[in-house]
Amino acid sequence: MTANRRVVLITGASRGIGRATARLLGEQGAAVGVNYVRDLSAAQETADEVERAGGRAVLLPGDVADETAVVAMFDELETAFGSADALVNNAGIVAPSLPLAEMDTARLKHIFDVNVLGAYLCAREAARRMSTDRGGRGGVIVNVSSAASRLGSPNEYVDYAGSKGAVDTMTIGLAKELGPRGVRVNAVRPGLIDTDIHASGGQPQRAARLGAQTPLERAGSAGEVAQAIVWLLSDAASYVTGALLDVSGGR
Ligand code: NAD
Repeated sequence: MTANRRVVLITGASRGIGRATARLLGEQGAAVGVNYVRDLSAAQETADEVERAGGRAVLLPGDVADETAVVAMFDELETAFGSADALVNNAGIVAPSLPLAEMDTARLKHIFDVNVLGAYLCAREAARRMSTDRGGRGGVIVNVSSAASRLGSPNEYVDYAGSKGAVDTMTIGLAKELGPRGVRVNAVRPGLIDTDIHASGGQPQRAARLGAQTPLERAGSAGEVAQAIVWLLSDAASYVTGALLDVSGGR
């Protein structure tokens, strides 16, 4: 496989954008580490889809916010397929829409644990293993941020938007830090994408309203975001690092 990375760890790959990315990489013959937390049967379905598509898959249980679990998932991937060439920091959560005055701090801490600490821990582990100055052979990281990072999501989830702002800033910093060490780092910023994450957002009418505010006049699909992620992972994007790529229908 020339265009795409061989061994790819995708966090939160049991469904949605993570699963679509895994499937697409499977079609290109990649070996995919399917990280999941709790939902084993859904993760197994992702792994089956990767294998049916022509790739290889290994299940990697673990909460991305758990430092020990993150090290273990990289170790298990390495045992199965060799060291990771690429990481997709996809795992993420949101919470029901609320104005700031009605939010509590536990919610913010939980969101930042998964979306920021989780991405940080996985990127750090990838950097330790991929950096050429540490004996690695280089690699690529794609962070799944959100259009919310620049829109701010007022009256809905400014906490989530803030967490994705942190992901954007880390993406830029890590691109500068790791570029000389052979690792490219980019982010995609999806807009409204039709996945299960909106079930936890708690506003059924929200999707229709936001779809109408989108220049392309619809929600995107997980597969459309996966296409952008897989491009950033590939050697076709060999001179792209530090980019924050909107995949938002123009929103
Ligand atoms: P999803 O809810 O279908 O998938 C999220 C995945 O993350 C699930 O597999 C879930 O089990 C996993 N996950 C959650 N907490 C985890 C943890 N602690 N450790 C490991 N895995 C964990 O939603 P999705 O839309 O596919 O979301 C994927 C990413 O895309 C997220 O980072 C999300 O913030 C981002 N995003 C989604 C949208 C959208 O409209 N769907 C828009 C912008 C950004």
